[in-house]
Amino acid sequence: MEFFLDEKKISGFNESTFIKNCASDTLIMDLSENMIVDSIFLCNEKTEFLFKKNKLFIPIHHFTNNYFNVKIFYNGSPKIAKNPPWKGGFVYERDNSNMHWVGVACQNDGASLWWPTIDDVSDEPDSLSVEMVVIEPYFLVSNGRLDSIVQLNNSRRKFCWSVSNPINNYNVTFNIANYVHFSDSLKTTYGKLDLDYYVLPSNLNKAKNHFSQVKPMLSFFETKFGPFPFYEDGYKLVETSYLGMEHQSCISYGNQYKNGYLGLHPENIDFDFIIIHETAHEWWGNSLSMINHKDMWIHESFATYAEALYVEEFYGYQEMLNYLNYQKVKIKNKQPIISSNHKTTDIYYKGTWVLHTLRSVLNNDRTWFSILLNLQLEFKHKIVTTNDITKYIENLSGLNLESFFFQYLFNSDLPVFDYFFDENEDGMQLHYRWTSSDDDFSMPLLVTVYESNFNWIYPTKDWKSTPVYIKPDKFKVAENLFLLETNLIK
Ligand SMILES: [Zn+2]
Repeated sequence: MEFFLDEKKISGFNESTFIKNCASDTLIMDLSENMIVDSIFLCNEKTEFLFKKNKLFIPIHHFTNNYFNVKIFYNGSPKIAKNPPWKGGFVYERDNSNMHWVGVACQNDGASLWWPTIDDVSDEPDSLSVEMVVIEPYFLVSNGRLDSIVQLNNSRRKFCWSVSNPINNYNVTFNIANYVHFSDSLKTTYGKLDLDYYVLPSNLNKAKNHFSQVKPMLSFFETKFGPFPFYEDGYKLVETSYLGMEHQSCISYGNQYKNGYLGLHPENIDFDFIIIHETAHEWWGNSLSMINHKDMWIHESFATYAEALYVEEFYGYQEMLNYLNYQKVKIKNKQPIISSNHKTTDIYYKGTWVLHTLRSVLNNDRTWFSILLNLQLEFKHKIVTTNDITKYIENLSGLNLESFFFQYLFNSDLPVFDYFFDENEDGMQLHYRWTSSDDDFSMPLLVTVYESNFNWIYPTKDWKSTPVYIKPDKFKVAENLFLLETNLIK
């Protein structure tokens, strides 16, 4: 593919190899209809096609081979992003020397806004080669390894990158700028991980200092989530004009070398949110990937929770609780986490609290961290359903968590802890129950039965009672550890 930066145009081809494992007559691929398709070749033979309503219909009925390849020549001006990375498209910016600075973000819109593909996250190509041409002096960074740079006529250069692992199509990306490059490596128990950084020239020194948090972060994530999932492709941060995106082995970094989220962050936390969050996606999202957009909590809840674990590791347990409480205020409870149309950020912030609550319910960190690690090992480079994840957690924990996941993932409201006190001849009594969307919901809970001591109680939908040795106004529910609503009945 060649980029014409001034004209905001691209021209080139995409070649895909498919396995024909069903008796389908037609291959249907996605491509934005504002692009122009010149011609299509099926195993090197020009073929008829129909291009209608963002779909390419390519007849394959005459084709008997198990493998076939499709080469699609196309060109045009891909849609320009309105608010990247959320409202995606091509991102055309200039650096402070007025040089082009171009990229793409298309997770929500689909990769077909710029290349012919099948916009369905339930399948991924097993590998990928990218050959992209741009005029000098621009440097083009894509996913995976840079195999070669080929000098072409008229001061053009072809950048050849290759990815040797499965990749979501929305993770396929390019970045064009007057980039400067520096590199490093991390020696781990699994080998040598190459680290490459591409930044604007004016930010080189800043980046060298700021990106020093990458190595301890990667080492920590490997202890919790297992080996970095893409050693063959390496780890990269590439400076972008938009905030960030977890582009596989080519993370878009646009946090402007600030701490927290663009300099806004809870007190005492001096890490860069984008580096931590997007890197966590290499495990949660890029290696272990959702089968459907409604299951996106699998990517975002775990990546957001990884931030909290990072805080626990580098700043301590209490700071982790503070960080989680900073995330908690963003929870909306307006729609279930499992949804075909995510209107709030609950897949991030409520999701991280569902995981934090689950850790409290398990009450055994060895089990909890072994679940996180084993999820990664079991589902490395695999596409999973929500059910795959929840059943796997149930199996490893040995607990029946059906009502837990049903309540927190498939309902919008929180379970309500109803309680009141009365006094009889045996002293002060606490009466309590759960009210929730799921009649079967039961979750153990920590409350103060004795002065300043938290003890377990086991509420269900039916009223229960227990003696308490504390004045009602001193009574506390461990709301730092559980996501719930409390309702004191008076
Ligand atoms: Zn994310």
